[in-house]
Amino acid sequence: MLRTVLLSFLLLLPLGTFGVSLHDIVKRDAKDHHNWNYEEKTGPKHWPEMFKKCGGSRQSPIDIQNSEVDLNDELDAFEFDNYDDPLEDATIENNGHTVQISPGPKDAPRIIDEGGMDDKYQFLQLHFHWGSDSKKGSEHLIDGQRFPLEMHLVHMNTNYKTKEKASTKEDGLAVLAVLFKLSDKDNPALEPIIDKLDDIRTEGSKVDMGDFTLESLLPDDMMPYYRYEGSLTTPPCSEIVTWTIFKDFVPISEKQLQQFRNVKEEDEGEAPESLVDNFRMPQPLHGRVIEVSGEGNSAGIIGPSVVMVLSALSFLL
Ligand SMILES: [Zn+2]
Repeated sequence: MLRTVLLSFLLLLPLGTFGVSLHDIVKRDAKDHHNWNYEEKTGPKHWPEMFKKCGGSRQSPIDIQNSEVDLNDELDAFEFDNYDDPLEDATIENNGHTVQISPGPKDAPRIIDEGGMDDKYQFLQLHFHWGSDSKKGSEHLIDGQRFPLEMHLVHMNTNYKTKEKASTKEDGLAVLAVLFKLSDKDNPALEPIIDKLDDIRTEGSKVDMGDFTLESLLPDDMMPYYRYEGSLTTPPCSEIVTWTIFKDFVPISEKQLQQFRNVKEEDEGEAPESLVDNFRMPQPLHGRVIEVSGEGNSAGIIGPSVVMVLSALSFLL
């Protein structure tokens, strides 16, 4: 009897009493990687059943057909603020879906501006998608061709104060995508990251990243680039991303790719497996137009001295 009374009493209490709201549960579910992955049963084909937006009409990634893209001269070069300044407080982690690098609280904001966008966007994190072999791995395809690795630099619109706010706006995020091409030689710019992969082989592990600059990971030519409106490529697939895919590639060797393939993921009740093939298939365009910038003068990283000279010149004019 007492037990029944107690039980009824507990059932009557609002969930909030325990510091857990329904909102929290939904959020936690969305975060729990065991709910979605790249396997058959809970993989990309089933994401729309669990996350409605994944079946939307502005989804990413896509296969970019060069014969179908529209030239847009208003897509100018990006300005990268602080990209040449080494991150000193960053961490690198294995979250079971990808390898992710995030700046720390002591790192000054890294901002991108221009690039045909109306607002400035602040760097939040970068992560990678890769394959079990070098014939696949990238999320975006160019004329049907896949690449062995793709890096995403995720940025938040500075008009919105928090990630939560930005994640509800259709212009909330800007993601820069860099495609990697197989090379005979190791890419020395990747070594600071490759060196850390051994330390984060186990899912959930996180270590200090050590000094490195974001600039070192960008392609030599940052013009031309492709532009389209899309979504997150992982659940909840929110349609909030302005995508930029650089046409120029960054090299990576087979040996360096192998280090990514040595990273492990764990599914509930199963032995750890290699974290590979963490990419989503190309999504339908649903009438979207893909734009390409002009060749432009690849302005690259603008340092303070260049800005000062430019201001002085504009004063003279
Ligand atoms: Zn990504």
